[in-house]
Amino acid sequence: MIDKPYYNKLLKWIKEDKLVKFYQSKQWRQVRQERMKIDNNECQLCKHEGRYHKAEMVHHIVHVKDNPLLALSMSNLLSLCNHCHNLEHPEKLLKQKPKFTNEERW
Ligand SMILES: [Zn+2]
Ligand SMILES: [Zn+2]
Repeated sequence: MIDKPYYNKLLKWIKEDKLVKFYQSKQWRQVRQERMKIDNNECQLCKHEGRYHKAEMVHHIVHVKDNPLLALSMSNLLSLCNHCHNLEHPEKLLKQKPKFTNEERW
């Protein structure tokens, strides 16, 4: 799960608007890879609708900023294709919120 020093770093990244560092961290990469493996590299929303699409990223159901404690929690993650991911983030379509632009490309 999430250890204290890493959690403190994460809080700092959130505060400084540097979540990109979280997505670059070894801890996230590991968890992300694990989630993809469990989901068979398959987009879980497409699967739910009877389609197949390769997973292209891993999404946080509860966003990292909303609850950093769940940032590395398997049950808070979902493998998605980019298309489904955009549907999960309607805020990305509202261009007046630039702070969302870079945070979740993965
Ligand atoms: Zn999909
Ligand atoms: Zn997401």
